[in-house]
Amino acid sequence: MNRLARTLASWAFMMLSVGSAPAAGFDYRLEPHAVADGVYVLTGLLQDFSTSNGGNIVNTGFIVGPRGVVVIDSGPSRRYGEQLRAAIARVTPLPVVLVINTHHHPDHFLGNQAFERATLAALPGTRAGIEREGEAFNTNMYRLAGDWMRDTVVAAPTMDVAPGRLEAGGRSLELFALDGHTGADLAVLDRATGTLFAGDLVFHERSPTTPHARIEGWLASLDVLEAIPFRVLVPGHGAVAQDAAPLRQTRDYLRWLDDLLRRSAAAGLDMAEVLTLPLPRMFARLAVAEDEYVRSVGHLYPAIEQAVLEEGSHAR
Ligand SMILES: [Zn+2]
Repeated sequence: MNRLARTLASWAFMMLSVGSAPAAGFDYRLEPHAVADGVYVLTGLLQDFSTSNGGNIVNTGFIVGPRGVVVIDSGPSRRYGEQLRAAIARVTPLPVVLVINTHHHPDHFLGNQAFERATLAALPGTRAGIEREGEAFNTNMYRLAGDWMRDTVVAAPTMDVAPGRLEAGGRSLELFALDGHTGADLAVLDRATGTLFAGDLVFHERSPTTPHARIEGWLASLDVLEAIPFRVLVPGHGAVAQDAAPLRQTRDYLRWLDDLLRRSAAAGLDMAEVLTLPLPRMFARLAVAEDEYVRSVGHLYPAIEQAVLEEGSHAR
């Protein structure tokens, strides 16, 4: 089968598998791993949303301070949020004082409902994105993840965060207001340990997703992140690292993708032709590579084609 046929077949399978029996008890089996002193990460699977993983394809985390806990991203569903809360309670009796959503994609905020409304915070652009698109994301997640989503409703953040220093729970954080993966992407640095939560600006061994991407802005944000003297890097998806390798991998992928699409548009290829181009080995081996490539061409190619056409007509 060619790539398009395979993708269509996998979509058809996903549609069919909605409603089939998922894992017993809807247990995400969340296990916090300490990545630095008082800093924990729950690592998601390198997959697409499905009825077997319940949407647990995302990294979430929490930071335990002397007076309370800061949560970074709340997962894809109410059940995930509740299980995250329970996982935190196994580590510390301290209350959750702040829940930060790094951006407005569903796997990063649909667990909000499990936490106190007054603790939910995000950049203004992320709050607006959740208010604008949250319901549609939630509906789509029910379609993709089935009954794992039961009783999940959108709980939008109630507080704005701003770039700069933020003291919470007795921990000192530095917030970076960036963009490019979406219109508002927040990165969070725990200053005591040098742990950088990069959100979906950084993917590791998994193809980046691009439904709201602006690649130029994304690349600029990666430069900002790389200049931060972090010691631990937590990507939005994929394994935690102690160096900038995931950041560079994301940059290499985005540069390659952007360059390929621009060259294809300049050569007059239509979308169907672009979809048949082979992926270089270094990107073909990333998780979900084929499906994300197909989706990214759909997201990005029309605007790039248009821009190349306009450049051509100005040059004449
Ligand atoms: Zn995202």
